[in-house]
Amino acid sequence: MKLIDTHCHMNLPNYCDDVDAVIHRALEADVDMIIASTDYKTSKKALDIANRYERGVNVAVGIHPGSLEERVENIGGQDVIIAGEKFNAEMFQQLAKFPKVVAIGEIGLDYYRLEGEQAVKDQIKKRQKLVLWAQMELAVMLNLPVIIHCRQAHDDLLNLIYDFRKEFRPFLSETKPWGVIHCFSGDENLAWRYFNLGFTISFTGLITFSGQWDSLIRKMPSDRLLLETDAPFLTPEPYRGKRNEPILVKHVADRIAELRGQSVERIAAITTENAKRLFSL
Ligand SMILES: [Zn+2]
Repeated sequence: MKLIDTHCHMNLPNYCDDVDAVIHRALEADVDMIIASTDYKTSKKALDIANRYERGVNVAVGIHPGSLEERVENIGGQDVIIAGEKFNAEMFQQLAKFPKVVAIGEIGLDYYRLEGEQAVKDQIKKRQKLVLWAQMELAVMLNLPVIIHCRQAHDDLLNLIYDFRKEFRPFLSETKPWGVIHCFSGDENLAWRYFNLGFTISFTGLITFSGQWDSLIRKMPSDRLLLETDAPFLTPEPYRGKRNEPILVKHVADRIAELRGQSVERIAAITTENAKRLFSL
């Protein structure tokens, strides 16, 4: 039974001691993966990791909206100021030449942590939208799908995708999905709006401990469904509280199988097929 964890962060410091052991564990259990990136540095790192494997490990490169602003991060017990990332299409184009790069991501909009006065927030939103648009353009140019992160920004995201589709209609297939809304957080109505715009959605371990998406999972079209862990985050039951890793994507598949009344083998086959189609694996 093959599974594909379509979104994990093996390129984060959480795995600096044992990344290859974690990946081997997954591959041996027939779990392939796509490593998602949050900035140029993690994109390069993801590619370095994937290039060590003949198969089963692929990469998405891109800038997460949360990486665009200057921020303070605690690295090795010390607070370090990290400069806001600037998007340079050419640099990412160079990375995307490597065959292991199968998507642009994770890119998107995140209004969850916006701070400051309204004018400042508006500036940040504007910047996020510009960089998202530029990265979607790059994806179309490279004929790659997009992996989209969205937090508390679904109205703006839908409008932006709608406008983008209008402008790039000749380049986007009417039938083939061209992106995924990762760790889908919205309601049923929202899910169908994304389906109509050519998107799939993916679920994480969140669904093993929250019933918020049960009804959507039961009803949604099977060809729009993907699995992910978002490791090291969102560890599924019964491992909550521990570091997440790709092999645990099985628990996401189990929960979906239970909700849809299908066998886990069937869910594995469907979601693996969907991932292969979307990412041309
Ligand atoms: Zn992620």
